[in-house]
Amino acid sequence: MNNIIDLRSDTVTKPSKKMRQIIKNANVGDDVYGEDPSVIELEKKIASMANKEAAVFLPSGTQSNLLALLSHCQRGDEYICGQDAHLYKYEAGGGAVLGSIQPQPIEFEKDATLDLEKVKKKIKPIDNHYARTKLFCLENTHNGKVLSLDYIKKASKFAKENNLSFHLDGARVFNAVVALDIKLEDITKYFDSISICLSKGLGAPVGSVLTGSKEFINEARHYRKMLGGGLRQSGLLAAAATYALDNNIEDLKKDHELAKYLTKKLKKINQIKIVSNDTNMLFIEVEDSKKVIEYLEENGILISGYGQLRIVIHRDISKKDVKKVIEVFKSYYTK
Ligand SMILES: *Cc1c(COP(=O)(O)O)cnc(C)c1O
Repeated sequence: MNNIIDLRSDTVTKPSKKMRQIIKNANVGDDVYGEDPSVIELEKKIASMANKEAAVFLPSGTQSNLLALLSHCQRGDEYICGQDAHLYKYEAGGGAVLGSIQPQPIEFEKDATLDLEKVKKKIKPIDNHYARTKLFCLENTHNGKVLSLDYIKKASKFAKENNLSFHLDGARVFNAVVALDIKLEDITKYFDSISICLSKGLGAPVGSVLTGSKEFINEARHYRKMLGGGLRQSGLLAAAATYALDNNIEDLKKDHELAKYLTKKLKKINQIKIVSNDTNMLFIEVEDSKKVIEYLEENGILISGYGQLRIVIHRDISKKDVKKVIEVFKSYYTK
């Protein structure tokens, strides 16, 4: 059904007519042979935007983060990340299962940073008793929250001082880029590797990219093949992603504005507690959340969560849709 207002995630965005046209006309070749011109163009473009030597196009953000873990760490090494970090909590334990890499999760602070003092305490001394701590991972945005450049700079210095590689799960890094009104490279320059999703708010149908040094990306390509991620005429997908990078980044600002508007309106409903609103995401708490979700669904609106509810604004959501969401919430509490 087309008139469903789907606020579960920005992954639900569908390719526009124009994007489908681009896909239809894309130049393709066999990417495992390194011969797909559209994939090459996308990888060059991202590497250049991030001011890194190289990039690799991948089927998903999960594979992208996994390749980062496998490429930075050896068997028996350790990575430090947030307790609720996507790459630790929501990626099926791939680093442990497929890389024998031990995670050391640490509780996120309220602003989605990791307290560097706490991180420092978890870095294992060089001693036969311990796993070797090799990698430090951040996430930007995390639950919509943007990391400040000041914090990233400090964390980057900290990683260097402690001989840790520094990876960013930047699934939604472009939301941070537009929120801070900066360039991608202003963030990426602090990291050794960055994973970026193209299939979320940017609106491409499939794909993520991992970017970093030439040597690092060569290593990642080896693991991509191993994991079955070597695609053939994937230029069809890469062309859509390039189109998204050329046309859709600034539109993320509209998503942020709409999320703010929705927050302002929902705040006026006494029974709704706004937990947070950052960039394109809104978290709320209500009593009987299951009933609320059901009522919304009966009215053609999908949101996600148990307890806390998550509402995500994306490019397929209009102001008219948001107004309907506000009306349906109001009607739930006056019925
Ligand atoms: C969506 C997401 C990913 C990757 O997800 P895929 O569905 O595998 O593409 C990684 N990290 C974060 C923070 C995400 O939100």
